[in-house]
Amino acid sequence: MKVDLHNHSYYSDGVFSPSEVVRFADDAGCDLFALTDHDTTDGLDEARQTADKLSVDLVSGVEISAFWRNMTIHIIGLNIDINNDILQAGLVHNQQLRKERAEKIALGLWRVGIKDALEKTQALSKTDMLTRTHFAQMLIGEGYCKDMKSVFRRYLTGKKPGGIRVEWKNIDEVVGWIHAAGGQAVLAHPFRYRMTNTKVKNMFLNFKEVFGDGVEVVTATSTDEEITLSNLWAKEYKLLSSCGSDYHGWPNQRIQIGYLRDLPNIDNAIWRYLPCRT
Ligand code: AMP
Ligand code: MN
Ligand code: MN
Ligand code: MN
Repeated sequence: MKVDLHNHSYYSDGVFSPSEVVRFADDAGCDLFALTDHDTTDGLDEARQTADKLSVDLVSGVEISAFWRNMTIHIIGLNIDINNDILQAGLVHNQQLRKERAEKIALGLWRVGIKDALEKTQALSKTDMLTRTHFAQMLIGEGYCKDMKSVFRRYLTGKKPGGIRVEWKNIDEVVGWIHAAGGQAVLAHPFRYRMTNTKVKNMFLNFKEVFGDGVEVVTATSTDEEITLSNLWAKEYKLLSSCGSDYHGWPNQRIQIGYLRDLPNIDNAIWRYLPCRT
C-alpha cells in the first residue's frame, strides 16, 4: 500500500490545483491519497472529479488550526463529510480568523514601511484564503527576504511586524467538528511544534483524552527517533498511526507526494478504517 494522507493544493498554501495534486499522487502510484488544505474543503469537489477517473482512492480531508495549551497545532480530519454543517461552521470560523489576521499582518507590515501588503499578497493567491505562506511569498518577491525560513523569522512570527496571535478553538472542539462530520481526527506533524519530547508526549495523551483518533507517525521530514517515539506513544495511548508528506509543491521543497517511509507498525495504520479499493 502506498499511502499519503496530508497534502495541499492552491485552495490553501499549495502551488498546484486539486486536479494536479491528485494526478501527481496517481502518477506516483499512490493507492490512497488525502487532500488536506488548511481550514477549507473547497478543493475537494475538483479533486474528487479527477480521482474518479484514476486508480488512486481519494480521502476527503482537511487540516484544521487548533489550540493546545494556547499554542497553535494542526489537526487533520480524514474521511469527513464535507457537507456537514457543524464542520463547515467551524471552518468558516477559522476562515474569519484568517481574514482578520491577514488585515493585522498587513497593518503590522505597513508600520515598518511595507505598503499595500494585503493587496499584493491577495494577488498571489488563487482563492480568498490567505495563509502566512502567501505573505512570505509576497515579502520574498518584493525583495525583503531571500527565503521562507528567514521571512518567517524576521516578519511573520512572535513579536515581529507580522507576527499576529490567533486564538484558535481548543483541540476538543476541533476534534468534535471532525467527528460530527463522521471523520477521523489525526494530530499532524507532532514534532514540528518546537516542544520538548515530554511536552509532545503530553500532547498525545491530551489528544487521546479529547477522543482524537490518530497521530502522524511518519511525515516527509520525520527523523528515525521521531518515528520510533511517536509509534511508541501511539501504541501506549491507543492512537492509530497515519502518514503524510505535507506536500505543498513549493519549488525549494524537495518533498514529493507518496514518498514516505513505512510505518513501523502497519497493523495500527489508520487506513484500515478508511474507504479504499485495494
Ligand atoms: P498559517 O496556517 O497561515 O499560519 O501558515 C502556516 C503555514 O506556513 C504552515 O502550514 C507551513 O506551510 C508554513 N510555515 C510555518 N512556519 C514556517 C517556517 N518557519 N518556514 C517555512 N514555512 C513555514
Ligand atoms: Mn501549509
Ligand atoms: Mn501543518
Ligand atoms: Mn499541512
